[in-house]
Amino acid sequence: MSNNTFNQIPMVDLKEELTLIRTPILEMVTEVLNSGEYILGEKGEKLEKLVAEYVEASYGIGVANGTDALQLSLMALDIGPGDDVITTPFTFFATGETIAQVGAQPIFVDIEEANYNMDPSKIEEAITQNTKAIIIVHLNGKSANMKEIMAIANKYNLRVIEDACQAIGTEYDGSRVGAIGDIGCFSFFPSKNLGAFGDAGLVTTNHKALYEKISQLRNHGSEKKYQHSSIGMNSRLDELQAAILLVKLYYLDIFLHKRKEVARRYTEKLNNLLKKPPISENREHTFHQYCIELDKRDELVSELKNNGIASAIYYPIPLHLQQAFHYLHYKKGDFPIAEKTAEKILALPISPTLSFQKQDYIISTVNKFLENNG
Ligand SMILES: *Cc1c(COP(=O)(O)O)cnc(C)c1O
Repeated sequence: MSNNTFNQIPMVDLKEELTLIRTPILEMVTEVLNSGEYILGEKGEKLEKLVAEYVEASYGIGVANGTDALQLSLMALDIGPGDDVITTPFTFFATGETIAQVGAQPIFVDIEEANYNMDPSKIEEAITQNTKAIIIVHLNGKSANMKEIMAIANKYNLRVIEDACQAIGTEYDGSRVGAIGDIGCFSFFPSKNLGAFGDAGLVTTNHKALYEKISQLRNHGSEKKYQHSSIGMNSRLDELQAAILLVKLYYLDIFLHKRKEVARRYTEKLNNLLKKPPISENREHTFHQYCIELDKRDELVSELKNNGIASAIYYPIPLHLQQAFHYLHYKKGDFPIAEKTAEKILALPISPTLSFQKQDYIISTVNKFLENNG
């Protein structure tokens, strides 16, 4: 039986977060409603400018969601049928899906055991004559090893797209992710570290030509109304979501700091029998997820559930074993680190608003389980 006095601790408590920012959000929403301007207006432009500045990129382009950010990036790089794109099998499905969506072939490369990101030492053997680009993913808010990845990309003249959907504000060697490769892709799905109240996304780049191309592609390949220079998409960022994101961007650093504090406390107090996120000097973690690893993962999930604590598995099935990618003819055993991780990994609740009391309750529930099942 649950002795949890908090009823239910969700993975991320968006309702609690809203109580802190409700007033400025409602003011902004009212402003947009009164403006009569709902798509491609002043709020969206401001958000593009401020997110680009935040990420330290030259340009930002608001789009409908993170998936479209990836797809538009591939389209802007003219990637399509006959091209190979290297990516990680240990990510959200959209990373691989968009490669297939533009008609290119996803080529998977296994991950590093420590940080769950693409293992740079395994990239070169996956490169073929058809390889055009690499999509790296900064999983859970921890940067991939960009120095080695960029060196390989430069050596083989490959474009680099950063799937930074989980990693706004994450730093690598003092640079923000999303501005290190050719293009950065961000998602503002509600549960992301910077979340809208619906779908939204953004692309960042330092290249003017890519900026112009993606700006057109997201709006039916059009620069001027009813003149279309290419086949694009309808993938714009609504003014209402942009306005909400402007308020939330203002609080982002505070919320990221809170996440890091929760993570520090977890790392300090959780039983050392667990594998915890490693700390690396030049790869700061913004903890979109705080993931542990253990053999009796599924038993711990039930124990947490019985005690009113949510937990989540990101991700239970690596992309190469997804039915949708059956046609690529990968098989079990192809990417052993990703497969092993999928069986052991577990994300614990990590809201910026998670109280000390709740943190301690989660920590003691996990530790008690380990003492009894170690
Ligand atoms: C969330 C996410 C996406 C997709 O973003 P949406 O806004 O949901 O389309 C893509 N890649 C990764 C790694 C994500 O976490």
